[in-house]
Amino acid sequence: MRKRRILVTGGAGFLGSHLCDRLLQEGNDVICVDNLFTGSKDNIRHLLDDPYFEFIRHDVTQPVFVECDQIYNLACPASPKWYQKDPIYTFKTSVWGAMNCLGLAKRTGARVLQASTSEVYGDPEIHPQPEEYRGCVNTIGIRSCYDEGKRAAETIFFDYHRMHGVDIKVMRIFNTYGPRMDINDGRVISNFIIQALLGQDITIYGDGLQTRSFCYVDDLIEGMVRLMNSRDGFTGPVNVGNPGEFTIRELAEIVIRLTGSNSKLIYQELPEDDPKQRKPNIDLAKKELGWEPSVILEEGLRKTIDYFKQCL
Ligand code: NAD
Ligand code: UDP
Repeated sequence: MRKRRILVTGGAGFLGSHLCDRLLQEGNDVICVDNLFTGSKDNIRHLLDDPYFEFIRHDVTQPVFVECDQIYNLACPASPKWYQKDPIYTFKTSVWGAMNCLGLAKRTGARVLQASTSEVYGDPEIHPQPEEYRGCVNTIGIRSCYDEGKRAAETIFFDYHRMHGVDIKVMRIFNTYGPRMDINDGRVISNFIIQALLGQDITIYGDGLQTRSFCYVDDLIEGMVRLMNSRDGFTGPVNVGNPGEFTIRELAEIVIRLTGSNSKLIYQELPEDDPKQRKPNIDLAKKELGWEPSVILEEGLRKTIDYFKQCL
């Protein structure tokens, strides 16, 4: 007898596939819904023969009808390169996808978790960012389809909660990395590792003094599962990320050292609206979830480098 039937949208993506692994290991019945826009069957190939795992190729902008106890809503392209490819579709995926999950949760009584993002804080003037900070977001820029799409999704989550009593959890995820990141998705960690392993120039956008805080995927998934199973009435939003803060230039130097690469740093134009700094305040996650990250950047990078070596 399985514990719960759990729907994971975006389950063939980077984070979603790790979540599916974890939920199956815990004895749940997992339904993965994904249209493979940025995800891949390779991420879930090892699960396809598991009788408690089902893959449904489906676009979350359309309603999905399944019976389930919990829903994790992760479907949405996450890297700037992909979410900017078709910004209208990104916005639809974020907002209509959220509404379809909420409609399903309302009908089935399932608890539903939204994978929101630190991007709701935009280019933040408050540092580190606590959940109360309302952000500094450009409504009309090239990142807005994602940032505003995720903000609107949070809004509709709270409206379904207040109006229909839907049991919601909202998680603001900060930059996360690890095995199964797509080689071509243009995010900084995958780009730098691939470039270093191939001996190509490392592309730093801008002066490289902008900062990010990088969380290893295992830590992130632990926080996500804890939030889903947190006490009744605790909705979040809650930040989940690693407060260790690094400049992009520091990251490049660490990657070069860990890979033993001869790659040189080159500087390219900074993309529009690229946030200057980002670091989570995780006091709420510590208090409510008893969660904090345990994998330091070098350790996580070593595992990620090993993974990318196998991919090349
Ligand atoms: P990813 O691109 O690897 O995964 C997203 C998955 O959603 C893919 O498998 C993709 O095919 C699927 N998808 C996209 N549009 C869809 C649609 N319309 N219908 C069905 N499936 C669709 O990205 P990820 O890094 O695993 O991110 C997962 C979630 O976490 C996203 O919602 C993202 O916004 C959020 N998030 C991630 C990070 C991070 O650093 N990885 C940070 C903040 C928030
Ligand atoms: N970045 C970079 N070189 C790259 C890819 C990204 O310097 O090859 C920078 C990017 O401009 C940003 C940071 O690294 O300042 C993180 O970028 P990413 O796309 O990974 O995530 P996000 O900007 O959404 O946090």
